[in-house]
Amino acid sequence: MTTETTSAPNFIRNQIRDEREAGRDDKIVTRFPPEPNGFLHIGHAKSICLNFGLAEQFGGDCHLRFDDTNPAKEEQAYIDAIKADVEWLGFQWAGGVRFASDYFDQLYAWAQHLVREGKAYVDDLSPDEIREYRGTLTEPGRPSPYRERSADENLDLLERMRTGEFAEGEKVLRARIDMAAPNINLRDPILYRIRHAHHHQTGDKWKIYPSYDFTHGQSDAIEGVTHSICTLEFEDHRPLYEWFLDNLPVPCKPRQIEFARLNMNYTLTSKRKLKLLVDQGIVDGWDDPRMPTISGMRRRGYTAASIRKFCEMIGVTRADGGLVDIAMLTHAIRSDLEDNAPRAMAVLRPLKVVLTNVAEDHEEVYEVPGHPAREDMAVRKVPLTRELYIDADDFMEEPPKKFFRLAPGKEVRLRNSYVIRCDEVVKDPAGEITELRCSVDFDTLGKNPEGRKVKGVIHWVSVTHGVPMEVRLYDNLFEVEQPDRDRDADFLEHLNPQSLVVCQAVGEPSLAEASPESRFQFERVGYFCADRHACESGKLVFNRTVGLKDSWAKIKKKG
Ligand code: ATP
Ligand code: MG
Repeated sequence: MTTETTSAPNFIRNQIRDEREAGRDDKIVTRFPPEPNGFLHIGHAKSICLNFGLAEQFGGDCHLRFDDTNPAKEEQAYIDAIKADVEWLGFQWAGGVRFASDYFDQLYAWAQHLVREGKAYVDDLSPDEIREYRGTLTEPGRPSPYRERSADENLDLLERMRTGEFAEGEKVLRARIDMAAPNINLRDPILYRIRHAHHHQTGDKWKIYPSYDFTHGQSDAIEGVTHSICTLEFEDHRPLYEWFLDNLPVPCKPRQIEFARLNMNYTLTSKRKLKLLVDQGIVDGWDDPRMPTISGMRRRGYTAASIRKFCEMIGVTRADGGLVDIAMLTHAIRSDLEDNAPRAMAVLRPLKVVLTNVAEDHEEVYEVPGHPAREDMAVRKVPLTRELYIDADDFMEEPPKKFFRLAPGKEVRLRNSYVIRCDEVVKDPAGEITELRCSVDFDTLGKNPEGRKVKGVIHWVSVTHGVPMEVRLYDNLFEVEQPDRDRDADFLEHLNPQSLVVCQAVGEPSLAEASPESRFQFERVGYFCADRHACESGKLVFNRTVGLKDSWAKIKKKG
């Protein structure tokens, strides 16, 4: 039986429960707000499960909204992938897909409103000068010489920015808040930049684009979001978001709640760095099975249920800086597959075995359960013939004492079949082992041989009926736990050269029919998933999802 994992604390869920108990009964509205500038990763899965999960649990709505304020980095392909990932994870957003760019007209009107109120101004300082004037954590900022422009002049300049009269970088619109504020985010933050860029949703309509900070909170307000959930790095931005909500005629005031982002060992959770891996061809696209992207994990063999389970296991807190052990994630998928993946035999590094006392045309077929505990799973037909493959790792010419597999003169059981003895080792002129000649003890089907103990059981596949297939053994992409800990750029130096090992393998006949993304336990080897892309082009390729050993369950038992 698999270990059951209880869910960890989730302070936001508790908080909403408390609100309900205290009598609040409005419908909760949450949202997942990605920027469409890359594929979603396991960190986003945490945010998705949280936002959609809360809406589900408390009978509310969760929106999918693209915060698309930076056309230079955004693409339709990312929008499509993000939608597919959210749906695959098992969630459905309320209403249609939303875009912050749907609100550009409203945001512009609000910018004009601030200008009229003397709360925003057009600044001609260059980006470098703005940075310099901003001051530091210990020194207050200085006001821009353009800060005192009249509302009329500002309105006129802003409109001319919008229509494309000025070059990029020539002017910006800034909020007029407080250049001496201890919180640097309040030192006249930028609201609009000039960008003569084509936008995937709005085309060439806009020559200016709102900053993320000017867009995010107001978009939530427009959508009636009640719980505006984000990661801790936005805590310092909260006073600014609240300033906007207080100084604009917004329809409602969402409350921001911050939680700690997911960081996991051996794993990068930065879209920018993942994009670099893709752009440099270090991985085979965003859905390479080594990528911590949702689409990569899916291709690797993760189920949506296992990812949701993992997100439940890690909980939601405000404790920053922790590193989740990737063993928790592999535990979640392993226990799912342990219960739900049919079994099969596959030989990854084939070594030929000739059963010398079995006739050339002999064939016996075993009917083997698809799963030891699941009668609903189809029985497999496994044929035994004179020639078999076993895994090269299951034979040693000079075995150490505790080696219970095959060795010269030793016996081993073929899984679901007889005990065999290795009588002869055949080598080529270079000394490489080419085949083993073994004899079958026909008295041992389903029972132990008289008076002898045979400890080892190995898997095997018939040479005549086995299906050739490619098996891709994936491992962590990085050799160190925190590849980007020291210096940002160094993570490429920590790539694991063994992150992908390809085997030309042979599988039992039932595997020939494997449908795309079907998952199996290859007995004694691990869990594997039929590669969806390879299946499409008629090739049989299996990706290793995880091995059999569950280090997390062990840790849990000890602890
Ligand atoms: P960037 O803004 O650098 O492109 P991002 O990771 O912030 O990257 P977004 O598309 O803005 O990407 O993220 C969408 C949502 O997912 C945000 O609410 C963000 O807080 C959340 N999120 C992103 N990374 C994580 C993480 N590692 N753990 C939990 N939530 C995350
Ligand atoms: Mg972001």
